[in-house]
Amino acid sequence: MLNIVLFGPPGSGKGTQSEKIIEHYGLTHFSTGDMLRAELAAETELGLRAKSIMEKGELVPDDIIIGMIRKRITGQKDARGFIFDGFPRTVAQAEALDKLLDELGMQINVMLGLEVDRQELIDRLLKRGNEQGRSDDNLETIENRIRVYEDQTSPVMGYYQGQGKYRGVDGIGSIEDIFSRLSGIIDNL
Ligand code: ADP
Repeated sequence: MLNIVLFGPPGSGKGTQSEKIIEHYGLTHFSTGDMLRAELAAETELGLRAKSIMEKGELVPDDIIIGMIRKRITGQKDARGFIFDGFPRTVAQAEALDKLLDELGMQINVMLGLEVDRQELIDRLLKRGNEQGRSDDNLETIENRIRVYEDQTSPVMGYYQGQGKYRGVDGIGSIEDIFSRLSGIIDNL
């Protein structure tokens, strides 16, 4: 099995590169952001709880996120592997993921980090806000999401570095160029 964590700040291109990786390697996608937006659209209790948190750019509580992953990963034993996108976003989530995978006899093979500077992130997210109308892509929320990333999420990189699993790539360039940097690492695992 090939289990990948795709890591990086908001706007670094995780969603775009996930699609390419899934297509090429046949992995199953776990995007907690997509899961939460689906809950929101279906107006579930969970979705209603998450709405105001997401609009502010804060993190949804760890227990909710871990519960969502646990529910979906169980019964996926025949998958070729998983790609985690936007998760884990806290060290507590990373620890819970290790525990869950361990129970299933699996582990993370690599964390691929997309490295993009702050101004480029803001430019990309503002552009996406104009094109797709995602309500959290406005300047105030974007700046808070980047702050939350720096405070709460960037330590997750150290967690995987400690396991010798972190590999960073330059996230600036064409979609194809960035994909070939990522696949170069995956193919050499
Ligand atoms: P982006 O990476 O562009 O910020 P996502 O779609 O991954 O967007 O996430 C959107 C929002 O959903 C986050 O700002 C956060 O409120 C919530 N969210 C997504 N994944 C998680 C997670 N693993 N833990 C906590 N909150 C999350």
